[in-house]
Amino acid sequence: MKKITLSLSMLLAIGKLAIAQSTDIENKFNREEAISHFSYLASDELKGRDPIRPEIEMAASYIASEFEKYGAKQVPGATGYYQLIPFMMSTPPKTGEIVIDGQTYEQGETLLVLSGPDLEGSYELVDVGFGLEADYEGKDLKGKIAVSNVGAPDQMSPAALFSLGAEKIKLAKENGAVGLVEMFNIPSVPWQLVSRFLNRTQLTIDQGEAGDLPYIWVKDSKNSIKSEMAKGEMDEARFKIQKKTNQAIEGKNVVAWIEGTDPALKNEFVLLSAHYDHVGVGEPDANGDSIFNGARDNAVGTVAVINAAKYFAENPPKRSILLAAWTAEEKGLLGSAYFASNPLIPLKDIIFNLNIDNGGYNDTSIITVIGLGRTTADNLISEAVSEIGLKAISDPAPEQGLYDRSDNVSFAKHGVPAPTFSLGFTAFDDEINKYYHKQADSVESFDLDYAVKYWKAYILAAQKIANMSEKPFWVPGDKYEGVGKSLYGIK
Ligand SMILES: [Zn+2]
Repeated sequence: MKKITLSLSMLLAIGKLAIAQSTDIENKFNREEAISHFSYLASDELKGRDPIRPEIEMAASYIASEFEKYGAKQVPGATGYYQLIPFMMSTPPKTGEIVIDGQTYEQGETLLVLSGPDLEGSYELVDVGFGLEADYEGKDLKGKIAVSNVGAPDQMSPAALFSLGAEKIKLAKENGAVGLVEMFNIPSVPWQLVSRFLNRTQLTIDQGEAGDLPYIWVKDSKNSIKSEMAKGEMDEARFKIQKKTNQAIEGKNVVAWIEGTDPALKNEFVLLSAHYDHVGVGEPDANGDSIFNGARDNAVGTVAVINAAKYFAENPPKRSILLAAWTAEEKGLLGSAYFASNPLIPLKDIIFNLNIDNGGYNDTSIITVIGLGRTTADNLISEAVSEIGLKAISDPAPEQGLYDRSDNVSFAKHGVPAPTFSLGFTAFDDEINKYYHKQADSVESFDLDYAVKYWKAYILAAQKIANMSEKPFWVPGDKYEGVGKSLYGIK
């Protein structure tokens, strides 16, 4: 009996503590201030926070000055509150043309010049299989063009087609080639889609000299070019790639940190992150609006991180907090991926990433946590959300692969447990599509009472995780459990 009474009173004490935490956040939360951050970041003035437009700078400097104002500190190794990223902004060539065996391939139609300088003249073609290391053995590429297939025998997903590019360009260059032309022959990935996406201004991480080689995709679904080459009937092509512009620009992740209070646990970091970029300006909609304000995607998340900076700078938890506003998520997770490859805090010291990203919401009684249930801290997220008066649900559309499509995956794939805290949605329905990547995604169409609850729940969830006694980890059997074990040195 005694034992039971004790544990009951302990339970009551824990309950009171939980209530105290959420009440403290409720009391200290400044609604007007948070909404003013939100209105500014999603304002027309910032022109949709596009990393290839100058107005993104105003967003970055606003976030940095709020971090500073609230007392979050600069991260050692950063430039002030920024992690600077060398971006390359490139436009398609004015003329992009290759003539192979009497047939002309043109930019945007059956040809895409992806990177590199202009190229003119006739060059010999050499088949290099998939363009991987072994494919170059015994072949002379000096002054010639390497012709390969896109992807690799076991890697044909759209993501793999892109990510293999950098390594293949490097190999072609090392072997003396003057260009790399890949045959796009994958029926499962529609060329039209690829072409629409790539035949416009692109932002990539500047590869330096390694990227200094013309890199071209040619649509050849029937493999006719390579079979002609194999027959020995054709081994030359005429190139006319003119006026492609490649401009180095500087990108900025905004980062800061708050020291934890526990002498041992303060060496561990909980990363609170959200991307602050959006898709910029486009064609006007029916109302004549051409600015994509991106209130849901992802000004609301950026404000959540700013609010967390304010609360935790005044009320630090046991573990340290790393705050990050990523750039260029919409260009392919560039900012978060750059940080994960060039971490200012060692990744093994980042024990959890509570990321935020949003398409929209269709249910203001819930919060949707992408990946809920995959880590041992997730019960704390659910608890925090309930204490604010909402309910946490897991990803309702796993077939969309959302977990692997936002900044959290930049960390998850290195082993850091990393769910994404999203506005409440139960399906990708018309209500979501009304706003998702549309001009209508603005603060005017946002339920601000719901925003305030969302922001409070995020702080409370982060606080619980930063104070939990054991270190959070992936649940057994998770896709990222193995890489997590090697990151943290768990046997
Ligand atoms: Zn987003």
